[in-house]
Amino acid sequence: MHPHPSPDRPAGSPASTTAAAHRTAGSAPAWAVGSTPVHRVDEIDFPPETGAWLLPDATPDVVARAPWLTPDFADDEGVLRASSHSFAFTVDGRRVLVDTGIGNGKQRAMPAWHQLDTDYLDRLTAAGYPPDSVDLVILTHLHADHVGWNTRLENGTWVPTFPHARYVTTRTEWDHWASVDMEESRRQMFRDSVHPVREAGLLDVVDIAEGPVVLAPGLRLLPTPGHTPGQVAVELRDSGDTALITGDAVHHPVQLAHPHLSSCADTDSALARSTRAALLASAAESRALLLGTHFAPPTAGRLAQDGTGYQLTPERPVLAQTY
Ligand SMILES: [Zn+2]
Repeated sequence: MHPHPSPDRPAGSPASTTAAAHRTAGSAPAWAVGSTPVHRVDEIDFPPETGAWLLPDATPDVVARAPWLTPDFADDEGVLRASSHSFAFTVDGRRVLVDTGIGNGKQRAMPAWHQLDTDYLDRLTAAGYPPDSVDLVILTHLHADHVGWNTRLENGTWVPTFPHARYVTTRTEWDHWASVDMEESRRQMFRDSVHPVREAGLLDVVDIAEGPVVLAPGLRLLPTPGHTPGQVAVELRDSGDTALITGDAVHHPVQLAHPHLSSCADTDSALARSTRAALLASAAESRALLLGTHFAPPTAGRLAQDGTGYQLTPERPVLAQTY
């Protein structure tokens, strides 16, 4: 399954799926945060029905109240666009990947996520991050669309895709899933995408109970509970600029215009709402570049207060040369 052409891909530029792009590589959509390029690594566009399922109260009427959502983040009928992608960047010499999408060949209950066959790893390599070179994989939370490429199938066995990386989750997140009676589809996800990493000794569990955790100079995990109990957002600072990777504290830009809109996938919607309010207020205040984990292209922008919510001024990525 291949994503639709992205509106942020300059006209005439090759789709990143071409063989030539893979061989010569060296380009991928990226933003500059200070002097740090942050790359978006595309997996799939979610099908049109995903938005209405995920955010049932984001009806076309509600979407229409924020005209800036169209056409990038919603179509003319008010159908929400959303996608699956990762972010890759290098900080303090460490090559970091934030979230690992859905993955290929995974047995999943969600039809759009079942048995994918995408060229995600080629795109990651084209962005300058071949799997062997990744040092740190940050998992914002342990849901199927954030941990999938943790592993890949090799001779019938799920093995870590990033054998030289430390994979990071939080103690709160780990303990939560260890304590709940998971349905079979979630157990399957842990079996094929989380346990192989832990069994290989590559999983680090960090404690966010006391607040943000510094992973490297300029790189912090911010507790953002509600979608899941141990979810984190990822903050990157360089040379006075700040970027904030949302995880699923915000699923879609319609929640910037209407921060009270909840996702059906939140474990605690009231907590998710207060987390989102605080995160967005802080991002607006600091003029951070907001990078949405499921935001359709152009994926990023800066917030300005707009009534009871915010408007996003998109910042389009450039096709950055990486090497
Ligand atoms: Zn998600």
